[in-house]
Amino acid sequence: MKLEQALDNNIFKIISRSANELQLDAYVIGGFVRDFILQRSSAKDIDIVAIGSGIALARKVALNLPNQPKVQVFKTYGTAMLRFEDVEIEFVGARKESYHEDSRNPVVENGTLEDDQNRRDFTINALALNLSEENFGELLDPFYGVQDLKNGIIRTPLNPDITYSDDPLRMMRAIRFATQLNFIIEKGSLESISKNSERIKIITNERIVVELNKIMESVKPSIGLLLLEQTGLLQYILPELTNLKGIDEVEGQKHKDNFYHTLEVVDNIAKNTNDLWLRWAALLHDIGKAPTKKFSKKVGWTFHAHEFEGSKMVYHLFKRLKMPLNDKMKFVQKMVFMSSRPIVLAQGVTDSAVRRLVFDAGDYVDDLMTLCEADITTKNPNKFAKYHNNFKIVRQKIIEVEARDHVRNFQPPVTGEEIMKTFNLKPSREIGIIKEAIKEAILEGVIPNEHDAAFKLMLDKGKALGLNATLNNN
Ligand code: ATP
Repeated sequence: MKLEQALDNNIFKIISRSANELQLDAYVIGGFVRDFILQRSSAKDIDIVAIGSGIALARKVALNLPNQPKVQVFKTYGTAMLRFEDVEIEFVGARKESYHEDSRNPVVENGTLEDDQNRRDFTINALALNLSEENFGELLDPFYGVQDLKNGIIRTPLNPDITYSDDPLRMMRAIRFATQLNFIIEKGSLESISKNSERIKIITNERIVVELNKIMESVKPSIGLLLLEQTGLLQYILPELTNLKGIDEVEGQKHKDNFYHTLEVVDNIAKNTNDLWLRWAALLHDIGKAPTKKFSKKVGWTFHAHEFEGSKMVYHLFKRLKMPLNDKMKFVQKMVFMSSRPIVLAQGVTDSAVRRLVFDAGDYVDDLMTLCEADITTKNPNKFAKYHNNFKIVRQKIIEVEARDHVRNFQPPVTGEEIMKTFNLKPSREIGIIKEAIKEAILEGVIPNEHDAAFKLMLDKGKALGLNATLNNN
């Protein structure tokens, strides 16, 4: 089969000519070919394999390109990279890899194209297109990867036990591709992943998180999360989630399975946001429920303060997985911490409760509403409609309250300095008390969020505290 249409970007002609000048064969391999056949908006990178030195080929290509781009060489890996327009092109020499039980790193030797295809993770990632001038565009598909693409199957080129045990990250990659492409993992592969799942422990957290994030960014993340759970991988990566599994029953009272509930919430939120961190917040919003679960005869199952517990767990989880401990983590913590707030509101919306919500959530109030809407997983259609409708009212109220009271990113209308000046005070406890009273009065709707009303309240409060105002008009 010829796939010349895949190669109509001029860059391929230039690579072909450069390879010819060096008298070596070169192929496009991997994701680019796969995504072309799938007609998937192709990844921005192209992988080239040279039967010979990939670095020499990269240098030659750079010389033949009009702008002669810089070549970045990674000596340890024997690879080189250059950028052409907005595409990253990576060059590698064909290699043969053999793994030994006692080492994580393979022994690497120069090899043929077949050797190189053998070391690839999946049949759909081992497809290669010939760049030689005589056979330009010829497809080399020794493992029937095109058939697997058509049938939607993830399969390893070699015995799966060898492929996964050699490099356990491939287990995550299999599940990631199954999620992104909505493919099925072939039975033998799936069994092998279950068998080898514990070997994921030898993979660094950074590499695991790259795959996890790709699962989370997919249209339906639950595909991957379920596969991670079913194969046993999830317990090594995110035990906080597997701990949510199961339904307990005491005296005929049950709680819902918070693991499967969480998966539904994640899929729901994925329909409404592409924000990775809001998706993570959905994934983690209930993790505090496992350690806080209690049963009491009076009220049944409770998860008292699980939001607070959960937000603390977010920090430990991010730290363990070497995820960023920056404002993204704080955002996820805040979402988890506040995740039940709008639910209470949806049962009865008052202006003051909405003002408090906006005050506490600040700029994140819309994200919080999106999370809470995704959290509605009831199968009762009446309740489903009612809850959504209530949140619609809350959203409307947020807009009204915002326009009127400006409590988002609240700035006190009377400053501490003004209080000190008015009562001739040094920094002291009274200033805090007065400021708090003003804030409370605004949030409760006792006074509007305006200077004059707040000033008057300050005078009253000061008087009640036994302070003397030294009012002057300058
Ligand atoms: P995407 O860009 O969506 O991540 P990709 O297939 O291009 O998909 P890369 O991680 O860039 O993914 O890998 C490029 C190619 O290198 C793959 O198509 C595959 O052939 C090979 N490859 C990558 N990682 C591995 C691995 N762990 N084991 C074997 N082959 C791999």
